[in-house]
Amino acid sequence: MSSGRQHSTYNHSLIILLFGFIYVLPKEMNFLYPDLLGMLFGAVYMDPDNDCWLSEPIQNWGAFRFIWKRYADKAPHRGNDSNDWGMSHHWLLGTIFRVLYLLPIFIGLTVLRYAFWDNSWGRFEIDFLIHWKIGLQFIRGIWISDLLHIWADWNINRK
Ligand SMILES: [Zn+2]
Repeated sequence: MSSGRQHSTYNHSLIILLFGFIYVLPKEMNFLYPDLLGMLFGAVYMDPDNDCWLSEPIQNWGAFRFIWKRYADKAPHRGNDSNDWGMSHHWLLGTIFRVLYLLPIFIGLTVLRYAFWDNSWGRFEIDFLIHWKIGLQFIRGIWISDLLHIWADWNINRK
């Protein structure tokens, strides 16, 4: 979470770039939308700095930021402390951990949707079979966004 301001500048540039990219993306590359949206979601709502309560991504959740309270309290923090392995900033486990952290909420919303919306529980399997790849692409997008974040942290810290 070092150099918060430099970091937000970097993050905001990434978000603007992503919007631009999504806007000009040629039709033949439509298949990249889930990755790009995942990257956007990662940059705005969920990045390695979610281990810090005052970080921008957590604050962007607004009234729902309480969701991240436990993560910010419990995730081992990155820092100069050598005991600290910086789980939230791990290049692979960080993303996996955050995705798993949100999973119960995602499952809860899925159950609500299929149980109460048009009584559509019968569609669940069909929807799942159609959309699971899109879900993985979305997660891959979050991961790429996290990698860029870690790279930016590394660059900022090096100076
Ligand atoms: Zn960071």
